[in-house]
Amino acid sequence: MSALQPDTPASTTDNRAELVIRMVGVQKWYGDFQVLRDIDLEVQRGERIVICGPSGSGKSTLLRCINRLEEHQQGQIVVNRAELTADMRRIDAVRRDVGMVFQHFNLFPHLTILENCTLAPVWSKKYTPKEAKEVAMSYLERVRIPEQANKYPSQLSGGQQQRVAIARALCMGSKVMLFDEPTSALDPEMVKEVLDTMVSLADDGMTMLSVTHEMNFARQVANRVIFMDQGTIVEQAEPKEFFSNPKHERTRLFLSQLL
Ligand code: ADP
Ligand code: MG
Repeated sequence: MSALQPDTPASTTDNRAELVIRMVGVQKWYGDFQVLRDIDLEVQRGERIVICGPSGSGKSTLLRCINRLEEHQQGQIVVNRAELTADMRRIDAVRRDVGMVFQHFNLFPHLTILENCTLAPVWSKKYTPKEAKEVAMSYLERVRIPEQANKYPSQLSGGQQQRVAIARALCMGSKVMLFDEPTSALDPEMVKEVLDTMVSLADDGMTMLSVTHEMNFARQVANRVIFMDQGTIVEQAEPKEFFSNPKHERTRLFLSQLL
């Protein structure tokens, strides 16, 4: 069993909220430039959070710190009860439990769709090759492209590639999904198929943090919208409140530029 599994499995009668991500006073610098300032953030199991804000405000860096693609310098980040430190064992476990989907898909171009989905589960010995293939096919069906399994990424549309990237993360058994502008690189006609996949994950109760400027998605799916600017969380609220009654001038300015 993973070190990150809850000590006691949640039973159907246990309605207590379960904290999945906890960031306290997180600070991060790139050289002299402070990219994250005093980030406090708690995410409960099953929450669907949308993060928005101007380019350069630190949204990607925040996500990347949660699965330790980037290191923070001060403060505390706890993911599924494991504090993120330089301890490699924990980092591997965190990456297994926290899947990430990037703007540019990041599929391995020389591997087939199926191999993209089975590589990490087999390499990490999570599954035998046969099991990994079965799991991969079930998730490729889940994102509605099982017929593409033996093709290469370059033979797929952007929307299909992004759905493979989502399936690949699910194959590792991710319990939390981080999406970093997953539709920004897509042609408009492909945005919907990726958003629909994300909506269906949300409907299944997946814990999700999504950086996106798709505000209709935020309205439909998010239980909380976070606005970042200059490395800080400026404001967060339920979507209805966030869009109808933004408290801060910077949030109002940002929203007025989107609409
Ligand atoms: P966002 O995703 O909100 O656009 P990022 O987290 O990508 O913002 O970047 C925040 C700031 O940090 C930007 O000013 C960016 O130029 C800077 N930055 C991002 N990555 C690096 C890096 N590896 N080295 C130095 N500066 C970086
Ligand atoms: Mg970014």
